[in-house]
Amino acid sequence: MMSQSQNSPRRVAVIGGGITGLAAAYRLRELDPQAEVTLFEAAERVGGVLLTEREPHYLLEHSADNFITNLPWGLELCRRSGFEPELIGTRPVVRRALVLWHGQTVPVPEAFVLLQPKKIWPVVTTPLLSWRGKLRMLWEWFVPARRDGRDESLASFVTRRLGREAFDRLVQPLVGGIYTADATKLSLAATMPQFLEMERKHGGLLRAAWAERRQTTTAEQESHGARYSLFMAPRQGMSSLIEHLAAQLPAGSVRLNTPVQRLRRASSGTWHVTTGDNQEVEFSDVIVALPAPAAARLLDEVDTTLAGQLKQIPYAGAVVALVGVRRSQLTHPLDGFGFVVPDIEQRKIISVSFSSQKYDGRASDDRVLLRVFMGGATRPEVLQWPDDEVRSVVTRELTELLGLSGEFEVFKIRRWDGVMPQYHLGHLELVAQIEDRVKAIPGLALAGNAYRGVGIPQCVRSAEQAAARIVGTNVAK
Ligand SMILES: Cc1cc2nc3c(=O)[nH]c(=O)nc-3n(C[C@H](O)[C@H](O)[C@H](O)COP(=O)(O)OP(=O)(O)OC[C@H]3O[C@@H](n4cnc5c(N)ncnc54)[C@H](O)[C@@H]3O)c2cc1C
Repeated sequence: MMSQSQNSPRRVAVIGGGITGLAAAYRLRELDPQAEVTLFEAAERVGGVLLTEREPHYLLEHSADNFITNLPWGLELCRRSGFEPELIGTRPVVRRALVLWHGQTVPVPEAFVLLQPKKIWPVVTTPLLSWRGKLRMLWEWFVPARRDGRDESLASFVTRRLGREAFDRLVQPLVGGIYTADATKLSLAATMPQFLEMERKHGGLLRAAWAERRQTTTAEQESHGARYSLFMAPRQGMSSLIEHLAAQLPAGSVRLNTPVQRLRRASSGTWHVTTGDNQEVEFSDVIVALPAPAAARLLDEVDTTLAGQLKQIPYAGAVVALVGVRRSQLTHPLDGFGFVVPDIEQRKIISVSFSSQKYDGRASDDRVLLRVFMGGATRPEVLQWPDDEVRSVVTRELTELLGLSGEFEVFKIRRWDGVMPQYHLGHLELVAQIEDRVKAIPGLALAGNAYRGVGIPQCVRSAEQAAARIVGTNVAK
């Protein structure tokens, strides 16, 4: 990799110290070890939404608690930076998800992956669907493929292919929990293009599963909970990954408590970053690793059209309640990694993760750690509830659904207001416009969860692409 020049190392400002900003800073130094990188973070700690708290007997994740590894960028970053030995896989017990059905938790049919039934028999035998619903799902084989290339919502695609009942009972809760989104607005192309591809290539989801079955071995087909073995988590929690990445940067690179207030590009092409204390610092390049609304505010002065496009990406929030109890306080068998709640069940909660079933070290032996999710795009009012209302709702729901009794040992609430980008219909087109606009501005790159994937691996990929653009841009200058 070429470096800019012997005498003037590139000076790069990375704005935002979440996983995206840290991954971008790390990658910049990998690509150009001479680069001087300054990471500006508004808060008193790095990590953004990623936050682990340690309590006696519990390890509490306030937002993401793991990441998938079949999108390789998160795992590869851990490997290259020496963090891989700190990663652990899911516990090899009851690797499955449950879904609420008339107030009872029932296993998601085996080999039902997000919105694809990969096996017929589990669909036929599940109590989750009526006979009518099952037959409609199996009819998917004969539903003609739509190949007009128009963006389609998750709700429309699934209802069209698998029927309304499969959507309401299975797909809406399984996918709603991941994107905290309104499925009637969520763009399938922007979130799960693999299923569109199955329709395009094979004519449908069941046909794609059949084709895949003929190519895979029996052992692969039999492996139970295979999807869950794709997830990994830092043994000591997400904050340990964040601390590790920050420690890889040269001393003094990370400036905490330093919000960037203004960003300006001089006619000479240099970038001027003004921080909260009214200091202006000059850089050759900038990576903006912020949520889209914050990026829009900073970029308004640089390119109003770009800022306007960024403002069009909507955001939703969520409330996460962390609940620690003794095992003896729950009557439920905890025979899964957690359960999701269909909207049609009309509960206040979206999902409950049985964290201590999923990963070792989340609660000591005779204790259980639960993570309860509420809010999302369809229930924004939950963000406004006072703590005692959240607590009483969680208590009531867990009492009814998991047979909870007695007092919580730990109870923590975190409101994540406006942190989850919503990939609505037209999202990919909007992102393509944003990318075109950015391409025309030398020395600027954007990265983060607003564009091409909300998960940690996709954040890391966008960070690495941003770093590559900066290094490439300067080489070309
Ligand atoms: C509840 C929840 C659960 C999730 N679960 C998972 C999961 O299990 N697996 C998974 O892969 N993903 C999960 N995600 C998604 C994933 O965690 C996020 O997409 C990712 O962490 C976002 O990182 P980021 O760095 O892009 O943004 P952020 O974490 O939002 O970081 C942005 C940073 O910029 C800083 N900042 C803002 N304005 C300024 C400014 N003007 N100047 C300087 N700094 C500024 C902020 O303080 C913040 O630190 C979850 C997200 C949430 C909220």
